[in-house]
Amino acid sequence: MSGNLNIVDHPLILHKLSLMRAKDTPSAVFRQLLREISFLLAYEVLRDLPTTTKTIATPMSEMEAPVLAGKKLVLVSILRAGNGLLDGMLDLVPSARVGHIGLYRDPATLTAVEYYLKLPENMGERRVIAVDPMLATANSASAALSRLKEAGAKDIKFVCLLAAPEGVASLCEAHPDVPIFAAAVDSHLNDHGYIVPGLGDAGDRMYGTK
Ligand code: URA
Repeated sequence: MSGNLNIVDHPLILHKLSLMRAKDTPSAVFRQLLREISFLLAYEVLRDLPTTTKTIATPMSEMEAPVLAGKKLVLVSILRAGNGLLDGMLDLVPSARVGHIGLYRDPATLTAVEYYLKLPENMGERRVIAVDPMLATANSASAALSRLKEAGAKDIKFVCLLAAPEGVASLCEAHPDVPIFAAAVDSHLNDHGYIVPGLGDAGDRMYGTK
């Protein structure tokens, strides 16, 4: 589909995703599964983190031990469903900074409207991971990435759980420099901009709102 798209289809992720898709899965279980999947996604997304070495002493001898190096990491949650991916990633990299972008979808036009923005300083010096579970029309994701670039971000990855082919194509066109990570790409978008078969509204399923 695109050189920018990375599918992270580990069997554990696919199994947990199937449990999340099922419409009778309760919110508490849905949230826990999303947290577990985000942990697994982060493992893959952060595979290219640079390392350096530092001298440590084991009980047996000194050694040059690998440790993380380089640009500081910032995780940016696209509210509100992005918080579900954020939590598992923070479990893995608790020292990461966190930014939030609040966007809602205008139900009539499906365009993204910004209502909140809070980012750490020096975005240009950071490795940025933007997270939103559902890449549907890509209107929100695209607006969020543009906002991050306006704030100076240059090194950005976008991580979602599920994508629609339309969303992937649109995001790749708008932001060809941003690699996309997803667990699965589904069939299509319906007339309301929902991913089919998808899992419904991720925010509503996480928080029990409807
Ligand atoms: N947002 C969701 O939560 N679900 C979809 O299917 C599309 C956008």
